[in-house]
Amino acid sequence: MTGRMLSPPTPPTRHTLHDGTLIYSLPVRVFGDFTANVYVLRRGDYAALIDTGSGTVQSNADLDAGFAALSDYGESLSWADLSRIVVTHGHIDHHGGLDYLRTLTAAPVAVHELDRPILSAYRERLVLTSRALQAFLVEAGVDAAGVDAFMAMYTGGKHRFKGGPIETTLHHGDVLDGVFRVIHTPGHCPGQVCLRVGEVLLSADQVLAHTTPHLSAERITPGNGLSHYLHSLDLLDAEEGVELTLAGHEEPIVDLRARTASVRDSHERKMKRILDLCSAPHNLQAISAELYPRVKNYDTLLALEKVGALVEYLSARGQVRVANLSQMEANPTAAPLYQTA
Ligand SMILES: [Zn+2]
Ligand SMILES: [Zn+2]
Repeated sequence: MTGRMLSPPTPPTRHTLHDGTLIYSLPVRVFGDFTANVYVLRRGDYAALIDTGSGTVQSNADLDAGFAALSDYGESLSWADLSRIVVTHGHIDHHGGLDYLRTLTAAPVAVHELDRPILSAYRERLVLTSRALQAFLVEAGVDAAGVDAFMAMYTGGKHRFKGGPIETTLHHGDVLDGVFRVIHTPGHCPGQVCLRVGEVLLSADQVLAHTTPHLSAERITPGNGLSHYLHSLDLLDAEEGVELTLAGHEEPIVDLRARTASVRDSHERKMKRILDLCSAPHNLQAISAELYPRVKNYDTLLALEKVGALVEYLSARGQVRVANLSQMEANPTAAPLYQTA
Protein backbone atom coordinates (compact mmCIF):
# COMPACT_ATOMS: atom_id res chain seq x y z
CA MET A 1 0.00 0.00 0.00
CA THR A 2 2.77 2.45 0.89
CA GLY A 3 4.53 1.53 -2.34
CA ARG A 4 1.47 2.50 -4.37
CA MET A 5 1.07 5.77 -2.50
CA LEU A 6 4.59 6.85 -3.43
CA SER A 7 3.80 6.97 -7.14
CA PRO A 8 1.40 9.56 -8.53
CA PRO A 9 -1.59 8.32 -10.59
CA THR A 10 0.18 9.48 -13.77
CA PRO A 11 3.50 11.30 -14.10
CA PRO A 12 3.49 15.10 -14.48
CA THR A 13 3.09 16.50 -18.00
CA ARG A 14 4.73 19.70 -19.22
CA HIS A 15 3.38 22.51 -21.40
CA THR A 16 5.82 25.04 -22.86
CA LEU A 17 4.30 28.46 -23.62
CA HIS A 18 5.36 30.70 -26.52
CA ASP A 19 7.40 32.91 -24.14
CA GLY A 20 9.16 29.91 -22.58
CA THR A 21 7.05 29.79 -19.41
CA LEU A 22 6.59 26.18 -18.29
CA ILE A 23 3.41 24.78 -16.76
CA TYR A 24 3.49 21.29 -15.26
CA SER A 25 0.30 19.37 -14.61
CA LEU A 26 0.39 17.12 -11.51
CA PRO A 27 -2.65 14.85 -11.11
CA VAL A 28 -3.40 13.96 -7.49
CA ARG A 29 -6.02 11.59 -6.12
CA VAL A 30 -8.20 13.79 -3.93
CA PHE A 31 -10.95 11.35 -2.88
CA GLY A 32 -10.63 7.66 -3.75
CA ASP A 33 -9.67 7.62 -7.43
CA PHE A 34 -11.25 11.03 -8.10
CA THR A 35 -8.37 13.12 -9.40
CA ALA A 36 -7.66 16.84 -9.40
CA ASN A 37 -4.94 18.66 -11.29
CA VAL A 38 -2.40 20.74 -9.40
CA TYR A 39 -0.20 22.95 -11.58
CA VAL A 40 3.33 24.25 -11.15
CA LEU A 41 4.28 27.30 -13.21
CA ARG A 42 7.93 28.14 -13.84
CA ARG A 43 9.19 31.38 -15.35
CA GLY A 44 12.89 31.99 -14.64
CA ASP A 45 13.37 31.75 -10.88
CA TYR A 46 9.67 32.20 -10.23
CA ALA A 47 7.74 29.08 -9.24
CA ALA A 48 4.03 29.07 -8.44
CA LEU A 49 1.80 26.24 -7.29
CA ILE A 50 -1.81 26.45 -8.48
CA ASP A 51 -4.13 24.54 -6.13
CA THR A 52 -3.13 22.07 -3.45
CA GLY A 53 -5.17 18.86 -3.66
CA SER A 54 -7.55 17.84 -0.88
CA GLY A 55 -5.19 17.33 2.05
CA THR A 56 -5.94 13.62 2.46
CA VAL A 57 -2.96 11.35 3.10
CA GLN A 58 -3.25 10.07 -0.48
CA SER A 59 -3.56 13.54 -1.97
CA ASN A 60 -0.53 14.88 -0.05
CA ALA A 61 1.48 11.79 -1.04
CA ASP A 62 0.55 12.25 -4.73
CA LEU A 63 1.43 15.94 -4.49
CA ASP A 64 4.84 15.18 -3.00
CA ALA A 65 5.51 12.45 -5.56
CA GLY A 66 4.41 14.62 -8.49
CA PHE A 67 6.51 17.55 -7.29
CA ALA A 68 9.57 15.32 -6.85
CA ALA A 69 9.00 13.88 -10.34
CA LEU A 70 9.57 17.34 -11.85
CA SER A 71 13.25 16.40 -11.56
CA ASP A 72 12.59 14.14 -14.59
CA TYR A 73 12.25 17.39 -16.55
CA GLY A 74 15.48 18.76 -15.10
CA GLU A 75 13.80 20.90 -12.43
CA SER A 76 15.61 21.04 -9.10
CA LEU A 77 12.81 22.53 -7.03
CA SER A 78 12.17 22.06 -3.34
CA TRP A 79 8.99 23.21 -1.60
CA ALA A 80 11.02 25.99 0.05
CA ASP A 81 11.76 27.40 -3.44
CA LEU A 82 8.10 28.14 -4.16
CA SER A 83 7.39 31.83 -4.79
CA ARG A 84 3.60 31.63 -4.63
CA ILE A 85 0.58 29.43 -3.98
CA VAL A 86 -2.66 30.33 -5.78
CA VAL A 87 -5.93 28.71 -4.72
CA THR A 88 -8.41 28.85 -7.61
CA HIS A 89 -11.46 28.38 -5.38
CA GLY A 90 -12.62 27.34 -1.95
CA HIS A 91 -13.55 23.73 -2.59
CA ILE A 92 -11.79 21.16 -0.44
CA ASP A 93 -10.34 19.25 -3.44
CA HIS A 94 -8.45 22.45 -4.37
CA HIS A 95 -7.55 24.10 -1.06
CA GLY A 96 -7.51 21.15 1.36
CA GLY A 97 -3.75 20.56 0.95
CA LEU A 98 -2.93 24.05 2.17
CA ASP A 99 -2.51 23.06 5.83
CA TYR A 100 0.11 20.51 4.76
CA LEU A 101 1.89 22.91 2.39
CA ARG A 102 2.11 25.53 5.15
CA THR A 103 4.42 23.10 6.97
CA LEU A 104 6.72 22.91 3.90
CA THR A 105 6.87 26.41 2.45
CA ALA A 106 6.44 30.04 3.45
CA ALA A 107 5.24 30.97 -0.06
CA PRO A 108 2.46 33.58 0.15
CA VAL A 109 -1.03 32.31 -0.64
CA ALA A 110 -3.42 34.14 -2.97
CA VAL A 111 -7.18 33.63 -3.24
CA HIS A 112 -10.12 35.72 -4.43
CA GLU A 113 -11.70 37.97 -1.81
CA LEU A 114 -14.99 36.03 -1.84
CA ASP A 115 -13.31 32.69 -1.09
CA ARG A 116 -10.78 34.13 1.33
CA PRO A 117 -13.04 33.49 4.37
CA ILE A 118 -13.23 29.82 3.39
CA LEU A 119 -9.45 29.59 3.91
CA SER A 120 -9.07 32.02 6.79
CA ALA A 121 -12.28 31.37 8.78
CA TYR A 122 -13.06 27.87 7.62
CA ARG A 123 -15.10 26.68 10.58
CA GLU A 124 -17.40 29.70 10.39
CA ARG A 125 -18.02 29.10 6.68
CA LEU A 126 -18.69 25.42 7.27
CA VAL A 127 -21.23 26.17 10.01
CA LEU A 128 -23.01 28.88 8.01
CA THR A 129 -23.10 26.87 4.78
CA SER A 130 -24.29 23.77 6.64
CA ARG A 131 -27.20 25.77 8.05
CA ALA A 132 -28.14 27.08 4.63
CA LEU A 133 -27.86 23.61 3.09
CA GLN A 134 -30.08 22.12 5.78
CA ALA A 135 -32.77 24.72 5.12
CA PHE A 136 -32.47 24.06 1.38
CA LEU A 137 -32.95 20.31 1.89
CA VAL A 138 -36.12 20.85 3.91
CA GLU A 139 -37.44 23.19 1.19
CA ALA A 140 -36.56 20.54 -1.39
CA GLY A 141 -38.95 18.09 0.28
CA VAL A 142 -36.35 15.82 1.90
CA ASP A 143 -37.66 14.11 5.06
CA ALA A 144 -35.90 14.39 8.45
CA ALA A 145 -33.92 11.15 8.13
CA GLY A 146 -32.85 12.12 4.62
CA VAL A 147 -31.71 15.56 5.80
CA ASP A 148 -29.57 13.95 8.51
CA ALA A 149 -28.02 11.54 6.00
CA PHE A 150 -27.24 14.31 3.50
CA MET A 151 -25.78 16.56 6.19
CA ALA A 152 -23.49 13.75 7.39
CA MET A 153 -22.30 13.31 3.79
CA TYR A 154 -21.75 17.05 3.37
CA THR A 155 -19.70 17.59 6.51
CA GLY A 156 -17.84 14.24 6.26
CA GLY A 157 -14.10 14.84 5.88
CA LYS A 158 -14.47 18.62 5.81
CA HIS A 159 -13.58 19.17 9.49
CA ARG A 160 -10.04 18.05 8.72
CA PHE A 161 -9.06 21.44 7.25
CA LYS A 162 -7.89 24.17 9.68
CA GLY A 163 -6.89 27.09 7.47
CA GLY A 164 -5.30 30.32 8.61
CA PRO A 165 -4.17 33.79 7.51
CA ILE A 166 -3.97 34.52 3.78
CA GLU A 167 -1.34 36.90 2.39
CA THR A 168 -2.86 38.07 -0.91
CA THR A 169 -6.44 38.87 -1.89
CA LEU A 170 -7.34 38.65 -5.57
CA HIS A 171 -9.83 40.74 -7.54
CA HIS A 172 -11.05 40.56 -11.13
CA GLY A 173 -8.49 42.11 -13.47
CA ASP A 174 -5.53 41.86 -11.09
CA VAL A 175 -2.23 40.75 -12.56
CA LEU A 176 -0.67 38.60 -9.85
CA ASP A 177 3.14 38.69 -9.64
CA GLY A 178 3.22 40.01 -13.22
CA VAL A 179 2.31 36.48 -14.36
CA PHE A 180 -1.39 35.65 -13.89
CA ARG A 181 -4.30 37.83 -15.08
CA VAL A 182 -7.23 37.12 -12.78
CA ILE A 183 -10.67 36.46 -14.26
CA HIS A 184 -13.32 36.23 -11.55
CA THR A 185 -15.74 33.44 -12.51
CA PRO A 186 -18.37 32.93 -9.78
CA GLY A 187 -21.19 30.39 -10.08
CA HIS A 188 -19.46 27.10 -9.31
CA CYS A 189 -17.94 28.76 -6.24
CA PRO A 190 -18.39 32.45 -5.27
CA GLY A 191 -14.70 33.36 -5.42
CA GLN A 192 -13.53 31.08 -8.19
CA VAL A 193 -10.87 32.56 -10.46
CA CYS A 194 -9.60 31.51 -13.85
CA LEU A 195 -6.04 32.56 -14.58
CA ARG A 196 -4.73 33.75 -17.93
CA VAL A 197 -1.04 33.20 -18.66
CA GLY A 198 -0.05 34.00 -22.25
CA GLU A 199 -2.01 31.71 -24.57
CA VAL A 200 -3.03 29.40 -21.72
CA LEU A 201 -6.15 29.60 -19.58
CA LEU A 202 -6.14 27.87 -16.21
CA SER A 203 -9.89 27.29 -15.93
CA ALA A 204 -10.24 25.83 -12.40
CA ASP A 205 -13.64 24.05 -12.26
CA GLN A 206 -15.41 26.58 -14.51
CA VAL A 207 -14.90 24.47 -17.65
CA LEU A 208 -13.84 20.82 -17.68
CA ALA A 209 -13.10 18.62 -20.70
CA HIS A 210 -15.93 16.11 -20.14
CA THR A 211 -18.00 16.90 -17.06
CA THR A 212 -20.44 19.77 -16.72
CA PRO A 213 -19.20 21.48 -13.53
CA HIS A 214 -21.26 21.16 -10.38
CA LEU A 215 -23.66 23.95 -9.48
CA SER A 216 -25.67 24.61 -6.36
CA ALA A 217 -28.34 27.19 -5.65
CA GLU A 218 -27.49 30.77 -4.81
CA ARG A 219 -29.88 30.46 -1.88
CA ILE A 220 -27.35 28.10 -0.26
CA THR A 221 -24.26 30.18 -1.07
CA PRO A 222 -24.49 33.76 -2.42
CA GLY A 223 -22.37 34.02 -5.56
CA ASN A 224 -23.21 30.49 -6.66
CA GLY A 225 -25.93 29.50 -9.09
CA LEU A 226 -26.62 29.33 -12.80
CA SER A 227 -26.98 33.09 -13.47
CA HIS A 228 -23.48 33.77 -12.17
CA TYR A 229 -22.11 30.67 -13.85
CA LEU A 230 -23.43 31.59 -17.32
CA HIS A 231 -22.13 35.14 -16.97
CA SER A 232 -18.74 33.70 -16.08
CA LEU A 233 -18.85 31.55 -19.23
CA ASP A 234 -19.46 34.78 -21.21
CA LEU A 235 -16.24 36.18 -19.73
CA LEU A 236 -14.28 33.15 -20.92
CA ASP A 237 -15.87 33.30 -24.38
CA ALA A 238 -14.65 36.90 -24.60
CA GLU A 239 -11.04 35.85 -24.03
CA GLU A 240 -9.05 36.10 -27.25
CA GLY A 241 -6.17 33.86 -28.20
CA VAL A 242 -6.70 30.97 -25.78
CA GLU A 243 -4.83 28.04 -27.34
CA LEU A 244 -4.88 25.65 -24.41
CA THR A 245 -7.14 25.37 -21.36
CA LEU A 246 -5.86 23.55 -18.30
CA ALA A 247 -8.66 22.66 -15.90
CA GLY A 248 -8.93 21.63 -12.27
CA HIS A 249 -9.88 18.09 -13.31
CA GLU A 250 -9.68 15.94 -16.44
CA GLU A 251 -7.58 16.53 -19.56
CA PRO A 252 -6.59 19.78 -21.26
CA ILE A 253 -9.22 21.44 -23.47
CA VAL A 254 -8.08 22.41 -26.97
CA ASP A 255 -11.19 24.26 -28.20
CA LEU A 256 -12.47 26.34 -25.27
CA ARG A 257 -15.39 27.97 -27.11
CA ALA A 258 -16.68 24.62 -28.41
CA ARG A 259 -16.55 23.31 -24.85
CA THR A 260 -18.36 26.31 -23.30
CA ALA A 261 -21.04 25.94 -26.02
CA SER A 262 -21.61 22.31 -25.15
CA VAL A 263 -21.78 23.11 -21.42
CA ARG A 264 -24.47 25.73 -22.18
CA ASP A 265 -26.35 23.14 -24.26
CA SER A 266 -26.22 20.68 -21.39
CA HIS A 267 -27.87 23.21 -19.05
CA GLU A 268 -30.49 24.09 -21.68
CA ARG A 269 -31.37 20.40 -22.14
CA LYS A 270 -31.68 19.86 -18.39
CA MET A 271 -33.94 22.90 -18.02
CA LYS A 272 -36.10 21.76 -20.91
CA ARG A 273 -36.55 18.40 -19.17
CA ILE A 274 -37.49 20.18 -15.94
CA LEU A 275 -40.08 22.30 -17.76
CA ASP A 276 -41.54 19.16 -19.38
CA LEU A 277 -41.62 17.33 -16.06
CA CYS A 278 -43.22 20.24 -14.24
CA SER A 279 -46.31 20.20 -16.44
CA ALA A 280 -47.45 18.44 -13.23
CA PRO A 281 -46.30 19.97 -9.89
CA HIS A 282 -43.07 18.52 -8.44
CA ASN A 283 -40.87 19.37 -5.50
CA LEU A 284 -37.09 19.58 -5.99
CA GLN A 285 -36.40 16.10 -4.65
CA ALA A 286 -38.97 14.57 -7.02
CA ILE A 287 -37.48 16.46 -9.99
CA SER A 288 -34.00 15.28 -9.03
CA ALA A 289 -35.16 11.65 -8.75
CA GLU A 290 -36.64 11.86 -12.29
CA LEU A 291 -33.61 13.57 -13.83
CA TYR A 292 -30.96 11.50 -12.07
CA PRO A 293 -32.58 8.11 -11.33
CA ARG A 294 -29.34 6.15 -11.07
CA VAL A 295 -27.20 8.32 -8.78
CA LYS A 296 -26.14 7.04 -5.36
CA ASN A 297 -24.64 8.34 -2.12
CA TYR A 298 -22.88 11.70 -2.39
CA ASP A 299 -23.94 12.06 -6.03
CA THR A 300 -27.57 12.15 -4.84
CA LEU A 301 -26.75 15.29 -2.88
CA LEU A 302 -24.88 16.81 -5.82
CA ALA A 303 -27.83 16.05 -8.14
CA LEU A 304 -30.30 17.68 -5.77
CA GLU A 305 -28.08 20.76 -5.41
CA LYS A 306 -27.85 21.05 -9.18
CA VAL A 307 -31.60 20.73 -9.65
CA GLY A 308 -31.94 23.43 -6.98
CA ALA A 309 -29.73 25.73 -9.07
CA LEU A 310 -31.65 25.07 -12.31
CA VAL A 311 -35.10 25.50 -10.76
CA GLU A 312 -33.93 28.66 -8.96
CA TYR A 313 -32.89 30.04 -12.37
CA LEU A 314 -36.23 29.13 -13.96
CA SER A 315 -38.23 30.41 -10.98
CA ALA A 316 -36.41 33.77 -10.96
CA ARG A 317 -37.45 34.17 -14.62
CA GLY A 318 -41.07 33.17 -14.04
CA GLN A 319 -40.76 30.03 -16.16
CA VAL A 320 -41.92 27.88 -13.26
CA ARG A 321 -44.44 28.92 -10.62
CA VAL A 322 -45.21 27.59 -7.15
CA ALA A 323 -48.40 25.53 -7.33
CA ASN A 324 -49.13 25.07 -3.60
CA LEU A 325 -49.12 28.60 -2.18
CA SER A 326 -52.05 27.99 0.18
CA GLN A 327 -50.38 24.89 1.61
CA MET A 328 -47.14 26.86 2.08
CA GLU A 329 -48.98 29.68 3.85
CA ALA A 330 -50.61 27.19 6.21
CA ASN A 331 -47.48 25.11 6.84
CA PRO A 332 -44.10 26.88 7.06
CA THR A 333 -42.15 23.68 6.32
CA ALA A 334 -44.21 22.57 3.28
CA ALA A 335 -41.94 22.16 0.27
CA PRO A 336 -42.83 24.31 -2.75
CA LEU A 337 -44.20 22.38 -5.72
CA TYR A 338 -43.04 23.82 -9.02
CA GLN A 339 -45.19 23.91 -12.10
CA THR A 340 -44.36 25.15 -15.59
CA ALA A 341 -45.83 28.62 -16.10
ZN1 LIG B 1 -14.91 23.07 -7.37
ZN1 LIG C 1 -12.84 20.49 -8.16
